Amino acid sequence: MADIIQLLPDHVANQIAAGEVVQRPASVVKELLENAIDAGADTIKLIIKDAGKTLVQVIDNGKGMSNTDARLSFERHATSKIRSAEDLFQLHTKGFRGEALASIAAIAHVELKTKQETDDVGNCLIIEGSNVVSQDIVVTPTGTSVSVKNLFFNIPARRNFLKSDSVELRHVIDEFHRVALAHPNISFALYNNGSESFNLPISNYRQRIVNIFGSKTNEKLVPVEEDTEVLKISGFVGKPEFAKKTRGEQYFFVNDRFIKSAYLNHAIASAFDGLLKTGTHASYFLNLKVDPQTIDINIHPTKTEIKFDDEHTLYAILRSAVKHSLGQFNIAPVLDFDRDPNLDTPYSYKRSDTDTPKVEVDRSFNPFQDEVNSKARAIAYKKEPSPSWEGLYVGLESKGNESKPNFTEVRFESEEQTASIFEEDNQVEKSQTTYQLHNKYIVSTIKSGMLVIDQHRAHQRVLYEDFLQNLTIKEAASQQLLFPLQLHFSPQDIEIIKQLKVDLEHTGFAFSSVKEEFVDITGVPVGVPESEVSIILEQLISDVENEVPDSHFSASDLLAKSMAKSLAIKTGQTLQKDEQEHLVNKLFACKEPNVSPTNRATFITMSVDELDKKFI
Ligand code: ADP
Ligand code: MG
Repeated sequence: MADIIQLLPDHVANQIAAGEVVQRPASVVKELLENAIDAGADTIKLIIKDAGKTLVQVIDNGKGMSNTDARLSFERHATSKIRSAEDLFQLHTKGFRGEALASIAAIAHVELKTKQETDDVGNCLIIEGSNVVSQDIVVTPTGTSVSVKNLFFNIPARRNFLKSDSVELRHVIDEFHRVALAHPNISFALYNNGSESFNLPISNYRQRIVNIFGSKTNEKLVPVEEDTEVLKISGFVGKPEFAKKTRGEQYFFVNDRFIKSAYLNHAIASAFDGLLKTGTHASYFLNLKVDPQTIDINIHPTKTEIKFDDEHTLYAILRSAVKHSLGQFNIAPVLDFDRDPNLDTPYSYKRSDTDTPKVEVDRSFNPFQDEVNSKARAIAYKKEPSPSWEGLYVGLESKGNESKPNFTEVRFESEEQTASIFEEDNQVEKSQTTYQLHNKYIVSTIKSGMLVIDQHRAHQRVLYEDFLQNLTIKEAASQQLLFPLQLHFSPQDIEIIKQLKVDLEHTGFAFSSVKEEFVDITGVPVGVPESEVSIILEQLISDVENEVPDSHFSASDLLAKSMAKSLAIKTGQTLQKDEQEHLVNKLFACKEPNVSPTNRATFITMSVDELDKKFI
């Protein structure tokens, strides 16, 4: 019988491979963006038309390709990234299969323009369905531009299989987000049908997240840091109260590569155990760094799955790091549903267990005090400065002179210079009490009708004016920490802290050193819990970075705004009657009670007339 086995022609093999690599326009986006990153670009533009069905173009300023490489890059298994199978275990690049360009060129019209820095002119190569149509010399900037037009033009079945533009666009944007989140050190822009959808400058990770997901995201993030032999973790988890109904914002990056892992996702979910309302999912943006030898990313053609050597250990480390952060940033107390008892004691206190003998005098040491305090602080930011001998123990929030700790007690500021609107202005009738609506608004009656106050904005105003005053008089009380607090920042962030150091000291911070990547803090403003210090500084840094171009920028104003934002009572926090009244009084004692520090209304009024009209 005749032999029947044949080798498939290259273009057929490429089309088959394309089926694995390219499912939809978003797959092209991923491959082209990854190639641009591997080429060392620090500016990458993505241009799409009709959700990528008509055009996906990626322009980078990377190293470009030589004449020959430009041609070779479209051959199957043509890659500059690995030379032997062993290299697979030392991967520091995104690509390695040498399949992407060959596959894409098999099923689309591709135009490649590329130039290396050392060359005067570049190359332009046009390939349609694996056929090279032309290769010419062109004038083009250093770097590479790949345009992929008319995807699946020669496979109508696949083209018809594509979803609506809005669905495909969603996939494209998801892919863009993943790549952009993994590389905050690269600037990315996305243009969709001629208009700019994203413009992400080079920034730190927090800013990158905020630039992608919006400025509101900033206050939702809790930093997670862990550094062990086998695994380094950095990034953020979303505060439980902002958990989403959908699994939208969940990102793991392993060695800068986006991956999906149900197992590691479970580790996070279990760290949040008891903190989330049923049916909601925590957000996370976590970068894991592991030795490339301990992972195998080769198991899936689209490379979003990964095999770890020691998944169990990673699981345990990840879970405990996230738990630690949630505890350290005092997330639990703001929740009014069941919470994890492990989180009741902030970490720093747990760790100081062995030091109890040092605070022997303090029989009433109360690990829950911080919770109570954070609430008390919410209303009475400026507590009376402690006598100096006692200052030594404030790091533990101990109050030796209070014989009976009262867990529900709320302490108010002692010097009360507020002009009470309940009495003086006669705006609010004295006998009238306040009422909290949806843990968000404080409702009260005034002579003309009704007053509705936004608790978060109102408290921001109160704190803002307090801080501004402290910054001007430059003698805010500081509480000395029992153990200096060391925080880690990027060198870029350290520069910002250095610039703000003097102003920060005026608010009550004390530093023993600010250098390289560490800040050693020996004192914090009275009433600010140690656990919030890092979040305040993070917030501040990101506010400074976001507002620097603003011509009205003034360091102390920004500092006061930022700290007020970090420390103000949040929407969702239940306030006792006296806390509500106190906040109302403090607000109306402010210079500008009407607006928050960011110029948003702090309250509205509704007159009886207006109410009457509604009942006509
Ligand atoms: P892989 O990325 O797996 O190596 P690709 O088919 O994606 O395979 O790319 C083939 C080769 O083409 C790459 O190894 C690289 O040398 C070159 N290349 C592709 N895109 C670019 C680019 N944007 N800039 C420079 N070189 C590129
Ligand atoms: Mg590639």
